[in-house]
Amino acid sequence: MMLQYREVKERYRDCILFYRLGDFYEMFFEDALQASRALEITLTGRECGLEEKAPMCGVPHHAAETYIQRLVDQGMKVAICEQVEDPKSSKGIVRRDVVRVVTPGTVLNTGAIPPDRNNYLMAVVRRINTYGIAYVDITTGAFHTTVVHTYSRMLDELAKVDPAELLANPALQEDLGFREHLANRFHTHVTTQEDWYFERKRSEEAIRTHFQVSRLEGLLPLEHPEAVQACGALFNYLQETQKGNLVHITNLQYYQADRYMLLDASTRRNLELTQTLREKNRRGSLLWVLDKTRTAMGSRMLRSFLEEPLLQEEALLRRQDAVQEFLENPMAQAEVQEAIGGIYDLERLMGKVACHTANARDLLAFKQSLSKLPALQARLAGFSSALCRETAEGFDCLQDLHDLLERAIAEEPPLGIRDGGILRSGYDSQVDAYREAMTNGKQWLAALEAQERKETGIKTLKVKYNKVFGYHLEVSSAQSSHVPDRYIRKQTLANAERYVTPALKEMESTILGAEEKLMALEYALFLEIRETLSREVERIKRTARDIALVDALQSLGEVARTQKFVRPTLNREGVVRIQGGRHPVIEKMLGDGAFIQNDTYLDKGDHRFNIITGPNMAGKSTYMRQVALIVLMAQTGSFVPAQSADLCLVDRIFTRVGASDDLASGQSTFMVEMTEVAQILRNATKDSLVLLDEIGRGTSTFDGLSIAWAVVEYLSHGEIGGAKTLFATHYHELTELEGKVEGVQNYRISVKEKGDDIIFLRKILPGSADKSYGIQVAKLAGVPPWVIKRSKEILKELSKADIAVRSGAEAKGQGVQLDLFTPPSPQENLLEEVRSLDLARTTPLEALLFLHRLQEDL
Ligand code: ADP
Repeated sequence: MMLQYREVKERYRDCILFYRLGDFYEMFFEDALQASRALEITLTGRECGLEEKAPMCGVPHHAAETYIQRLVDQGMKVAICEQVEDPKSSKGIVRRDVVRVVTPGTVLNTGAIPPDRNNYLMAVVRRINTYGIAYVDITTGAFHTTVVHTYSRMLDELAKVDPAELLANPALQEDLGFREHLANRFHTHVTTQEDWYFERKRSEEAIRTHFQVSRLEGLLPLEHPEAVQACGALFNYLQETQKGNLVHITNLQYYQADRYMLLDASTRRNLELTQTLREKNRRGSLLWVLDKTRTAMGSRMLRSFLEEPLLQEEALLRRQDAVQEFLENPMAQAEVQEAIGGIYDLERLMGKVACHTANARDLLAFKQSLSKLPALQARLAGFSSALCRETAEGFDCLQDLHDLLERAIAEEPPLGIRDGGILRSGYDSQVDAYREAMTNGKQWLAALEAQERKETGIKTLKVKYNKVFGYHLEVSSAQSSHVPDRYIRKQTLANAERYVTPALKEMESTILGAEEKLMALEYALFLEIRETLSREVERIKRTARDIALVDALQSLGEVARTQKFVRPTLNREGVVRIQGGRHPVIEKMLGDGAFIQNDTYLDKGDHRFNIITGPNMAGKSTYMRQVALIVLMAQTGSFVPAQSADLCLVDRIFTRVGASDDLASGQSTFMVEMTEVAQILRNATKDSLVLLDEIGRGTSTFDGLSIAWAVVEYLSHGEIGGAKTLFATHYHELTELEGKVEGVQNYRISVKEKGDDIIFLRKILPGSADKSYGIQVAKLAGVPPWVIKRSKEILKELSKADIAVRSGAEAKGQGVQLDLFTPPSPQENLLEEVRSLDLARTTPLEALLFLHRLQEDL
């Protein structure tokens, strides 16, 4: 056995080998050491013909999925080695082989991956400056491929797909390694394969074999060999890991990466589209607000809407029409929701069928889902928006499959597929005959028991069954003397005797024979039914997509109604005009009416660059994000949180905000910030929307200001010719650019002074803020009074100095004497307080309290 183990292990060196022995999967040697640590299970030893025992550990096979998942989550690969021949018919040791390899990107256990997102395996091949990209979700069969031409575009796709596992060629690995700080951001397991793995001929062959075609034309645009290479590498990898169960991958979708609005990795994160920036929670993300889908398929579809906003007006209008129809017809919507409510994840069920892991209960869930479809189609047929109507017209209820499952699958089938009990009676006459034989046999046994009791007068005589002796008659020892001669003694127990008779033996073989045959037949018929489904995979996938689409659209309709969103109009004049805009997420977090609405206007001319000033906490970032989210939502087909919105389509949204999540990457905040600014300046076009929050902050004031200043100039005219930009800044000097640099307008977020404090009004108004109120905000944040007081003094001195500098005092050689370096001691402060106490107006109690405070401060 150890020899066999060695032989298999040799072929799966990079995997933990789960070697099936009886009811356990065992691991040996290095695998055992590693797995016992990772799974916190006991390490034992086993004789293996060597001097020392082999380290060994094991997990029960029925609980294996959880253990496998834990290893895979830690980035390991698990090869599952099973018996591949019937032990009864084998001589010597049973043949075993690996039947499946589980890796992070090829997990089939749908319980272990979130239902509302895809689990992608991705391959990226770099050839000089071209990147071939392919990704597949084997739980649903979705397969996409594309080609991009820059490293940063490749990263954008990587961020969008967010794969669980990435296959890289050595050139790409070099790239990723070189820019490790970027690679670190994507929490994906990278597997580097040698160049031969991506070889073109080999790849073409793999694709041809999968689709059983002789030519690739029609499947893939052949002018992109890198895409072919990436796809082929995926197929080869899937062959190695899945051993051929891939019928549900029915086509390759080649897409042009620029067909969608481009969102780079940091923008996706900053806008918190599908998870929050810090905690990585879904709650608090845009998806959290928009997702009112009723099915997992719908939820994944909606996520893809957000991940791939559209650029074609026509497609958007179609979605908008459908959303509007749902919004305006709550009754009809409720009916659609009810119809799709009980539909299981058809795509993942289909994946299980294709990978041969679906059991009878899965098929039952499948049938229950299909039974909802006619109602769904009928409801949809009443809709008039083109998207809903067309979906209704082309909708395939898969009636034939429903009927088959209805006829075939029992109402409460067991989990196992080899133990019988799967099929309904009436489905197959042979199955019924065996079952009858078994029932009759059991009745016959009951009759026999009664008969024998009567004949022998032994009241406690029983017909029993066990695996070793089969059916037998059991009599207690006390009664055994009454047993007739025709009984053949089989076994003596402590207080009973067991016998058989020839008639009993005969019936036993009938019953057992029938049972065995029944199980084998049910199993075979079940496989046949599963095969029938798997031949219809294309139809099932299409229906699943239709359901997902309807679900995503109805979700947008519901959210539009409950959150009071409006339908944006689309213009081609390059204008963004939002009235009463709101931030969809913060609005929802704050609750009813607490969010203050704001207007926005941007165009291609004089209003293309808004400089926004205002104290910290005033609401600058909220405002900028709100504009970006509204624009992005509009391009998914969703309605938007505003009183009205007239929007142009933008080709990209760029954001440069916050840097907290990059701290772990070992880069300085300033470096990361500048890298992102560089990206924006290089890639923004006049049709882009750019958000810049406080750039230049991470360096000295004058450096920062100069950079920010130059960025404004570059973006507002320069080569780009005016991307629509919102620029929040602390540098009040920049507000001087209004009127000097084309397109620049100043805005401020208003605050009200109240004595020494400020109140945030959250309203955006034209003009620039006159003060930064940093000290007031520090006070709100609870900075101790001494520091607040002292900062005010320093500020006063600095302003004086600033004025002196501006008036040229320094240039004249007089220097500026700052009284900064002799800070008053806290004691002096106290003295100052005592001096300024107005004794005439102080009550004895106040005086006492005053003294008490002084004492405390000391
Ligand atoms: P800044 O970027 O100016 O420092 P933020 O945009 O981070 O300020 O806003 C600070 C907080 O103010 C936000 O977390 C939010 O709770 C609140 N806020 C911002 N804008 C609004 C608004 N329009 N209405 C209500 N609350 C707001």
